[in-house]
Amino acid sequence: MSQASSSFLAFEPAPAAAPRAYRVLDAASVVDVLAGLPEIRARLGGAPSAWRVRDVADGNLNSVFLVDGPDGGVCAKQSLPYVRVAKDTWPLDASRARFETAYSARLAPFVGRLAPTLFHFDPELLLIVMEKLEPHIILRKGLIAGRRYPRLAADVAEYVAEASVRTSDLAAPFETRAADIALFSQNLALQRISVDLIFLDPYTKSARNKIAPALEPWAATLRRDVEIKSAAARLRLAYLTKTQSLLHGDLHSGSIMVTPEETRVIDGEFAWVGPTGFDVGNFIAHLVMAWFAKPFHAEGGKAAAARAAIEQNIVAFWTAFRRRFLEIAAEATPGGDGLPDSHFGDPAGARRRSEIILAYLDDLCRDAIGFLATKVIRRIVGFAQIEDFLVIVDPDKRARAQARALSLACSLLVEPDRYRDIAALVAALPKFDRADLDPGFAP
Ligand code: ADP
Ligand code: MG
Repeated sequence: MSQASSSFLAFEPAPAAAPRAYRVLDAASVVDVLAGLPEIRARLGGAPSAWRVRDVADGNLNSVFLVDGPDGGVCAKQSLPYVRVAKDTWPLDASRARFETAYSARLAPFVGRLAPTLFHFDPELLLIVMEKLEPHIILRKGLIAGRRYPRLAADVAEYVAEASVRTSDLAAPFETRAADIALFSQNLALQRISVDLIFLDPYTKSARNKIAPALEPWAATLRRDVEIKSAAARLRLAYLTKTQSLLHGDLHSGSIMVTPEETRVIDGEFAWVGPTGFDVGNFIAHLVMAWFAKPFHAEGGKAAAARAAIEQNIVAFWTAFRRRFLEIAAEATPGGDGLPDSHFGDPAGARRRSEIILAYLDDLCRDAIGFLATKVIRRIVGFAQIEDFLVIVDPDKRARAQARALSLACSLLVEPDRYRDIAALVAALPKFDRADLDPGFAP
């Protein structure tokens, strides 16, 4: 790891409250702070009074400014002591920027240009200054508009495979793994959000849930059905106990910025050491939801072509992820304490090691399909809904698209043996177009 990136890791465990020098920055004060950083000032050039500032916050939690000078631009992201979209009602420990910074620094040596470069972290202001991505747009917006991203599947596969192998016992010594677990297990404020919003709220009555009236029967099924709830419980326990690798923790189409030529993963504030299938399943879940929403975004032939492109992305992502996982594991495995050369160095051992890694991938795929289902469910009956469905203005049509996705998700949870791999999952998608608002649908 470079010196610059290791210095990002050199902070003390998060204090319970934001440090005293902390204050919420606005467009004017963010310029003052950046003007005081010689490296950033040089990058932007010119006089700070002439810098252009744009507030681009569109996520749920933080403020984000893009600042441009005559020579260049940066992105400045500050975590707030509350949830940005529920300022007066939902206080939130602001230390998440520490974990986002540590996550980016930990992965930078492996994922390189697939993430924005970090320039500066202020641990008191909880302000991250990073590479500005422009003309990149949020992938979700591109998918809704029906745009094509030929590099997307391979790039995200590369990112997730690197993160998944390099931070696991396949490649890292246990001392490094213990340090990752010790650090990221303190990311408690955001893990409380993940545990509640993903794994608990959708299966119970919660004031945070947002349930369309037409989907009440679905919500009731999620609260009542013991098979669904025990499948969700298995995944919840896996999330809490299976410390396989460092996760992004929120890896969906809203956390990826793209051009047709480039892909960048942003927003690692939910970082957590957990089951590798979690990020894999999350990425696919949002492609699957885009697939169900698509006929309500575009007409006939256009919708069919966009759906075919999404299907192709899912298959290409999984295929490339699997291939890169095996390649990186073959190269890096001797560095981990899981399957060391001292046990598996001879030809018979090497063969057996390959079999063990294939079994690890099979288990990861099973987890990914399960997490995929929980991700779909939480985005439809839970607090944080997604634009793919929200842009469908007719509530009947929106509920129909959502019910189809819910119907697939529940089938994934209760009949996992029907979906032994990602190809089987993609092949099954059209069957769920016949589902309607009745939770009793069986394809
Ligand atoms: P939150 O954690 O609040 O969801 P994000 O990290 O997702 O915040 O950023 C919110 C928005 O800011 C993104 O949707 C994107 O439009 C913009 N953004 C974030 N990082 C960058 C960047 N490095 N360059 C350009 N825009 C960015
Ligand atoms: Mg975020």
